[in-house]
Amino acid sequence: MDPRIDVSVEELIKDIQINVVDIEDFNERVVGAYNDGTAEKGLAADDQLARSIIPAATGALRDFSYIAPDIPEFIAENCVGCMDCVTECPDTAILGKVAEPATLDERLTGIPDEETRANIGAQWAITNKYHTVLEKKGQGGGKFGIFIDPTKCKGCAECVDACGDHNALKMIPKNDKNMAWYKTAFQFYRSMPETPKKFINEKALADMMLAERSLLYVGGAGSCMGCGEATALRMMLAATGFVYGKENIGIVAATGCNTVYTSTYPYNPYQVAWTNSLFENAPAVAMGVRARWNVQGWQSTRTLAGRRPPAPSRGRTPR
Ligand code: SF4
Ligand code: SF4
Repeated sequence: MDPRIDVSVEELIKDIQINVVDIEDFNERVVGAYNDGTAEKGLAADDQLARSIIPAATGALRDFSYIAPDIPEFIAENCVGCMDCVTECPDTAILGKVAEPATLDERLTGIPDEETRANIGAQWAITNKYHTVLEKKGQGGGKFGIFIDPTKCKGCAECVDACGDHNALKMIPKNDKNMAWYKTAFQFYRSMPETPKKFINEKALADMMLAERSLLYVGGAGSCMGCGEATALRMMLAATGFVYGKENIGIVAATGCNTVYTSTYPYNPYQVAWTNSLFENAPAVAMGVRARWNVQGWQSTRTLAGRRPPAPSRGRTPR
């Protein structure tokens, strides 16, 4: 007899979730070995490796600083706060935030180095969208900042194209000094409170990207520079996450490019549950997952099943 026969289903599920993989050990030992290049010869094929399970969001630990010679530079005075750069980036490498001016000033005061304080302060723009319009309504305007994560940026310049005639982004060559600056500035971005609700129009996808619950694709995936599919995946997750929350989403992927670049062991860009099955099997797998979740009472959890688009006919130009 199962000695745990009296344990509730909820307790058993919790137990399974804890024991599937030791996340702390995985992130330190397994991801650490891949990051420093010792994995192939130094890692034992234990139960953490042999099942190829990857914890959520390990892509956040991947550093792509070395793969491109250039990185975007933000020119705050030209920015209109459209967020097109943030929505277009395939790698979650450029993010925006709106701050209450008083909060921003208080945080900036805490930066001891004068030059760093001035440079980080200059990353925040006064835009019509987030400042002037709200000021006119008497609601108090915010300052809008754009920050680039140098460890995730692949230098594709999609954000610069998206910015277009606003000319608020341009590519510049990387060097040791500016890469250190990008890291400091991005840490400051992370240390700032989440964009207050009053600045987020819940019906606008661009504004959804200001909410942390939308950022369910952390980057660090092995996709090519400028991959359009990665942008689409980010957007699908952002909108779904914004509405339903990350605990209520699971992805069943059909084999294709995205299954390779989002599960290049041990890096996983998803903060949500994800699985992959053979080409045409995804709908059937998704139905099985759906049925199981329903049995568990998880009716509100969304199952996102993808399939490859049909191949174009021979001899015709793909549309
Ligand atoms: S250059 Fe490419 S990867 Fe880097 S922030 Fe811009 S869109 Fe993202
Ligand atoms: S696309 Fe350009 S103008 Fe729009 S938010 Fe980004 S930097 Fe600002």
